Amino acid sequence: MIAALRGTSVPARSRLYRSAPWGDPRQPDFINAACLVRTSLAPEVLLDELQGIEAALGRVPGPRWGPRRIDLDLLACEGAVMDTPRLTLPHPRFLERSFALLPAAEVWPDWVHPAAGKTLEELARTLAFTTVAEPIE
Ligand code: ADP
Ligand code: MG
Repeated sequence: MIAALRGTSVPARSRLYRSAPWGDPRQPDFINAACLVRTSLAPEVLLDELQGIEAALGRVPGPRWGPRRIDLDLLACEGAVMDTPRLTLPHPRFLERSFALLPAAEVWPDWVHPAAGKTLEELARTLAFTTVAEPIE
């Protein structure tokens, strides 16, 4: 569905990762993945489109850390650094979460995180996580 957006293609997708739930442990494991998106859409417009896809896939409002059918987040948009009520880039919890960093490092290992000043490959190799997401495919 992302690849079908106007001006957009998806050159790479990571493996799927299984991770223990965050926040409220009384819910099933989550499945996470990252994809590389090439697009002419502005970041806010891409976020609108991702939220449209979430709705089309049946996401309904629920508790912040609760189970959800789908959650599409923007981890980063090249070197963009912004913090508005609508959109924070890079994603504020990107580097704390093995389930975001490990799949992202698969699809764009050479990308330099602007705050960390290191590549995703290096961060995935060196950061210590409390829990580690496991690839399942
Ligand atoms: P979460 O992804 O934190 O579990 P939601 O998917 O409900 O929660 O998103 C809540 C809000 O976070 C969205 O309405 C969106 O405006 C905002 N947001 C801020 N930065 C980002 C980002 N980088 N990617 C996705 N959503 C973001
Ligand atoms: Mg989200």
